[in-house]
Amino acid sequence: MSSKRVYWIEGDGIGPEIWRAARPVIDAALAKESDMRIEWVELLAGEKATAETGSPLPEETMNALRTADFAMKGPLGTPVGTGIRSLNVALRQTLDLYACIRPVRHFEGLETPVKHPERVNMVIFRENTEDVYAGIEYAARTPEAKKLIAFLREEFGVTKIREEAAVGIKPMSEFGSKRLVRRALRFALDTGSKSLTLVHKGNIMKFTEGGFRQWGYDVAAQEFGDLTCTEKEPVEGRLVVKDRIADAMFQEALLRPEQYQILATPNLNGDYISDALAAQVGGLGLAPGVNMSDSLAFYEATHGTAPTIAGQDKANPGSVILCGALMLEQMGVPAAAERIRNAMSKAIAGRAVTVDLAAQVEGARVVGCQEFGEIIGACL
Ligand code: NAD
Repeated sequence: MSSKRVYWIEGDGIGPEIWRAARPVIDAALAKESDMRIEWVELLAGEKATAETGSPLPEETMNALRTADFAMKGPLGTPVGTGIRSLNVALRQTLDLYACIRPVRHFEGLETPVKHPERVNMVIFRENTEDVYAGIEYAARTPEAKKLIAFLREEFGVTKIREEAAVGIKPMSEFGSKRLVRRALRFALDTGSKSLTLVHKGNIMKFTEGGFRQWGYDVAAQEFGDLTCTEKEPVEGRLVVKDRIADAMFQEALLRPEQYQILATPNLNGDYISDALAAQVGGLGLAPGVNMSDSLAFYEATHGTAPTIAGQDKANPGSVILCGALMLEQMGVPAAAERIRNAMSKAIAGRAVTVDLAAQVEGARVVGCQEFGEIIGACL
């Protein structure tokens, strides 16, 4: 019997309870479709790591992740007073998890703010290492901000910047943009998608966001030229690569979502549109995600630690369970992934759901985290 090792980090807050509920569902779905098994190996991070080792992100954890193929994590809180801005950002940067991939689809029976949530079926590829998230930012009136402003004035003749401004830098490179779009193109072609859309704000930020757009078209033409075409010059049977300005994309997502399948975005645009689309189909409780480098697929619940409901058996384990579906797909067992998604649909149709979903399901009966996991497991 073959096995695949998956490192897992339990997470803080609701992490332990959503893990307890989610893991058996992932294992059971796999067992129904394959002889392969998952060898789960726990790694410490967050509060549990601090309690046991004194560090929120121990070196053993990082060493294991550096050579791993698959890992999964619950939410991690932001440690106070450790000098680490965010554990999630530290993990993404150290492991070069450059692509944040989030599929967004609707589950029947979930009420949402729009009339036709079922028309949304998109996968967002968000660049994860550049843009304003590079963290090069200086507070107003500090010596660093003043020095940078003086430099821009003196060396580049910039006049529009106020003396007392806070300043940030937005680096976006050809390398960073192309590797993200390349990955999105491969996925779009592998899944037989009709179109890939570059979402940018290049009308205003011509060289950063405009660069992303151009490099996106370039990588499509240079590396996938015989498989892709543009909207202006469509070719029957080929993947259409198109672009939309970010604000227009938000309108399109509401008005004509069925015309979009794969989105490739810079970091900040992707942050905004992932949450907006998740809300459009029923919220973050059922939003899985994966951060990928060239070697590691690191799955994570997209919500936070939900401290106000932690330890009360109220949290929704759905996001981690759906992460499991994504992972099983990547492991080459798509039937097990489909089984999980179908089970989620059936569980929602049965109307026994966690409290966060109850407001969106007509005639719902509220169940706890553990029971919701068991119900989904029984629907597999
Ligand atoms: P949050 O996602 O924890 O909570 C937002 C709201 O959603 C709360 O009302 C919460 O109760 C609810 N909620 C979240 N997940 C839920 C679930 N699975 N089931 C039911 N309800 C759920 O966001 P926040 O309050 O802004 O952040 C709390 C902590 O989490 C912070 O320390 C933050 O840094 C961290 N965080 C971590 C991640 C991550 O690890 N990927 C992501 C976001 C926030």
